Amino acid sequence: MALLTGGCLCGRVRYEVERDGAIVDYCHCDSCRRSTGGATVAWMQVSPAHFRITVGAAAAYRSSPRSIRHFCPACGSQLYMTDDAGRSVGVTLGTLDDKEAVAPAAHGWDGDRPSWLCLADDLPRFVGDPDYDS
Ligand SMILES: [Zn+2]
Ligand SMILES: [Zn+2]
Repeated sequence: MALLTGGCLCGRVRYEVERDGAIVDYCHCDSCRRSTGGATVAWMQVSPAHFRITVGAAAAYRSSPRSIRHFCPACGSQLYMTDDAGRSVGVTLGTLDDKEAVAPAAHGWDGDRPSWLCLADDLPRFVGDPDYDS
């Protein structure tokens, strides 16, 4: 077990997540950008059994027919995303306590990436949903 901890900006919501087996990638989709206000969002996807809230409770917003985004009701930090099927939990890398703990291995929704955002790496890029997501 390799547990990582994280939480929102104000500290009212805290979580822990198991890193082993996680899928880690950037998502450049319009929903991720708008919902965070950031240029892109990096996620680690784990099985629901590998994630739990340890302090407080997040509020939820359905951002698409298949996804629900969870954020701190006080400070607004987006913490994680779930799907109705309970397939996985996506945790925002930006809310991990250790920002060096994991790094993205692919770019999802590269077709939505703004042209001014240039990340110089050789990671695989998917125009829309990465193959492992569909
Ligand atoms: Zn907060
Ligand atoms: Zn996205």
